[in-house]
Amino acid sequence: MIKRTLQDIAPWVNGEKLGNAEISGVSTDTRTIREGSLFVPIAGEHFNGHDFGEKARDNGAAAALWGKNQPAPPAGFPVIYVEDTLQALQDLARNYLASLPARVIGITGSNGKTTTKDMVASVLGTTYKVQKTEGNYNNHIGLPLTILGLEEDTEMAVLEMGMSGRGEIELLSSIARPHAAVITNIGESHLQDLGSREGISEAKFEIAAGLRENGTLIIDGEEPLLTKKAASAPFRVLTFGTSDTNDYYPVRSEQKKDGTNFTIYKEAEESFFIPVLGSHNINNALAAIAVAGLFEVSYSSIRKGLERLQVTGMRTELVEGRDGVTVINDAYNASPTSMRAAVKLLQDLQADGKKIVVLADMLELGEKEETFHMETGKDIEAAEIDYVFTLGSLGRKIAEGAAVNFSENRLLSFDDKQALIKELGSLVGRGDVVLVKGSRGMKLEEVVQSLA
Ligand code: ATP
Ligand code: MG
Repeated sequence: MIKRTLQDIAPWVNGEKLGNAEISGVSTDTRTIREGSLFVPIAGEHFNGHDFGEKARDNGAAAALWGKNQPAPPAGFPVIYVEDTLQALQDLARNYLASLPARVIGITGSNGKTTTKDMVASVLGTTYKVQKTEGNYNNHIGLPLTILGLEEDTEMAVLEMGMSGRGEIELLSSIARPHAAVITNIGESHLQDLGSREGISEAKFEIAAGLRENGTLIIDGEEPLLTKKAASAPFRVLTFGTSDTNDYYPVRSEQKKDGTNFTIYKEAEESFFIPVLGSHNINNALAAIAVAGLFEVSYSSIRKGLERLQVTGMRTELVEGRDGVTVINDAYNASPTSMRAAVKLLQDLQADGKKIVVLADMLELGEKEETFHMETGKDIEAAEIDYVFTLGSLGRKIAEGAAVNFSENRLLSFDDKQALIKELGSLVGRGDVVLVKGSRGMKLEEVVQSLA
């Protein structure tokens, strides 16, 4: 983590210091602040961090950044006065990172950012000292905090970049200045804010704006909205995807019970195993292989890195449930693209028993939300899936869509989660595989727990 004096960092944040102190680490939250850190109070909608200066000092903060127009800081507490503490946090991260030797990989996209970030970190970790975004610290506050947590001797910083509107990825990319940037895919998340898939693709493409000189952009080559933009790009572009027009594509693949095998062809065939399921995860792994190639990681190291991958929880996570039931826990979040990918994964899977999907509302899809749910339902293959359970009023639309292929007795819609859990519990048995997926707000992990 950052270890500097106020003297060192005052020019970085365009601030005026009062007193001096050594700081190690940065925190915006007085509840989790560590001894010796720099407290950065953020003025938010509901809370103003500047109200917690005393608390920050009592909990061990060595100093703080402080908004010029805010109530005075605790007497005698070393501070740097700045115009705006959020901007200062971002400037601090930008300048700190620029002072480090680390090479930077930025990852954005509608789905698969965290998974790809974990894969990239795992393959680079075989050869370099790597640090990555923890959890989902991927926004205008989380990304700077992640950067300020980097050690001086870290060789590779793998950073997730999330967004909810235009301009955000450009800001994050301008802070991180990636040597390599990945756009995993374009889906429908944030359609509500960005209006169209075109709008979403433009927002994701903003990551290219921060690329360093000689940087490389790595994109989903199956997405015309991205390849079209990349065609006229003044920097190197690599693509990944299912077809052989891509720089990285699988020549074959095989779904196993505990993961996925796939093979690529470069100068020779190279085969890999990833301990996660679904063709969407092959795509994520291809992006990671492309990054690893840029930094000259050998194929045998890439193989090891992918094999020992540990993904962040609830993303297509295999859970051995009670009574011989297998659960695919994808309760972390959902959008039409990712729900389709997850359902396809279950369709392709060999199961001894029944195959059941439990699908809930996908939130924040804007005015076409009902259509998205209906279409997701229509695509579910009745020959491969035995039962469709849905939760919530939008979830019900999935069942309505599925009704074109499914008989009524295989479609069960609920508004009450406990009722769903009860019905599901009485239906499942040994050898069954249950996919559980819905938006974060639907808290489907409760369904997973009921089967565990
Ligand atoms: P968030 O925007 O919440 O940070 P994320 O982009 O980091 O999400 P992950 O957490 O990696 O995405 O994955 C979330 C879900 O998206 C997974 O559980 C899986 O269902 C789906 N998913 C992952 N990768 C892809 C992909 N390449 N294409 C489509 N869906 C994917
Ligand atoms: Mg994420």
